[in-house]
Amino acid sequence: MAASSPLQNPLKTPFSQLSIQKHKPCFVKPRRLSVTANHPRLYGRKLRVAVIGGGPAGSSAAEALASGGIETFLFERSPSTAKPCGGAIPLCMVDEFSIPLHLIDRHVTKMKIISPSNLTVDFGSKSLRAHESIPMLRREVLDSFLRTRAGTAGARIIPSLVTHLEIPSSSSSPYIIHHTINNSRQTLAVDAIIGADGANSRVAKSIKAGDYTCAIAFQERIKLPDDKMEYYQNLAEMYVGDDVSPDFYAWVFPKCDHVAVGTGTVCAKQDIKLYQRGIKQRVQNKIKGGKVIKVEAHPIPEHPRPIRVRGRVALVGDAAGYVTKCSGEGIYFAAKSGRMCGEAIVKASDGGESMISEDDLKREYLMEWDKKYVSTFRFLDLLQRVFYGSDEAREALVEVCGSEYVQRMTFDSYLYKKLAKGDRLEDVKMVLGTLGSLMRCKIIGRDMEALKL
Ligand SMILES: Cc1cc2nc3c(=O)[nH]c(=O)nc-3n(C[C@H](O)[C@H](O)[C@H](O)COP(=O)(O)OP(=O)(O)OC[C@H]3O[C@@H](n4cnc5c(N)ncnc54)[C@H](O)[C@@H]3O)c2cc1C
Repeated sequence: MAASSPLQNPLKTPFSQLSIQKHKPCFVKPRRLSVTANHPRLYGRKLRVAVIGGGPAGSSAAEALASGGIETFLFERSPSTAKPCGGAIPLCMVDEFSIPLHLIDRHVTKMKIISPSNLTVDFGSKSLRAHESIPMLRREVLDSFLRTRAGTAGARIIPSLVTHLEIPSSSSSPYIIHHTINNSRQTLAVDAIIGADGANSRVAKSIKAGDYTCAIAFQERIKLPDDKMEYYQNLAEMYVGDDVSPDFYAWVFPKCDHVAVGTGTVCAKQDIKLYQRGIKQRVQNKIKGGKVIKVEAHPIPEHPRPIRVRGRVALVGDAAGYVTKCSGEGIYFAAKSGRMCGEAIVKASDGGESMISEDDLKREYLMEWDKKYVSTFRFLDLLQRVFYGSDEAREALVEVCGSEYVQRMTFDSYLYKKLAKGDRLEDVKMVLGTLGSLMRCKIIGRDMEALKL
């Protein structure tokens, strides 16, 4: 390790001195900062990691890094707003991420899934156990809580827009982050970066991580008259049909004092407003007299990016593409991937004492993530292709959902994020029942192509 004074070495310079310099990189010759061996010890300083994006992925990553002894910077361009989101999380997230119960607006205990012909199946009233529910939160509340906790753990929170990254030409030079606070341009040098900046990730672009297909989700927040809101107290509804989406589902989710009514599609993004009219038509009597208080739209990634780690940069959450097909769920996977990536860096750097490499990120984060979740993502992808492709298939889906066993297995997998252990006899019955529904709806034979993973 080359000896250098703090000013020669940007990574040894206290952050307070670095951030006040404007309109030019605040480090003198950052590339002279040197790390000469594969995993050199970082004498006199800790590993310095920037997390870009303060959503569930970024805050969880920053908390894990800071708790593990890493010098951590968490960039969030817009701390007072929140991205459009339904806000439903699996029950296991409450314990696993120690989410205080008072942050939860609603505990959904009833779900309805409604077919194109308006066949309605109650999902949950019999199959949820007494202590079980789907917690619903406002993202502004959840995100702000997780960010504050990362700060308490020692992460430095920087309310700033990251504009671009300078990628080092050697494995020993720092990354330079260019960012803007109140129209003032600043820079920061770091050893490694976690890109948690969502579906339109600039970090992903900077490292040429490749593109993914996105769905577009559109939703309106509607304040309902009290009697109408009463109906949605603890109830979430999912609608399927060509009128509301050609390849996804539409929803009515209860929020704190209003409902979110929305839909999504991958294959017909230009028609999203048509499908939004479709779902509002279907629920017109239930939302009559309601007042639209917010309209929002946002992309949802459909699959992981071709590259999720390059050099000493790792992508997590939506930036990596961790949203499940079929359900469009991403909050838990964002927080989990952020935490796993943060912990991986802590482990590989020996608590921030030594430099990390691309191989470390791939071994400790990517491989572990794929081992844990790849089959879940593939299974939900398969379900989406089988059941969301046509109105006949959607009728079959709703029919299959009528089985209490199917509901229980679905809740076990969703709420606890573990592959549910089934009962052999019931599994056989479920497969036969599913095949029966598909045959009745004339899917089998015609759409077998969709069954190929
Ligand atoms: C309409 C809709 C409904 C959804 N409903 C649900 C649901 O009910 N349940 C569920 O589990 N999932 C849902 N999802 C998916 C879920 O919202 C995402 O998967 C989740 O937000 C991903 O979290 P993240 O931290 O990876 O990214 P994000 O939540 O997108 O956070 C990224 C953060 O990075 C910040 N940022 C971006 N660029 C920069 C930059 N250059 N500099 C600084 N900061 C930056 C942003 O301001 C943002 O705070 C929904 C998605 C949509 C669109």
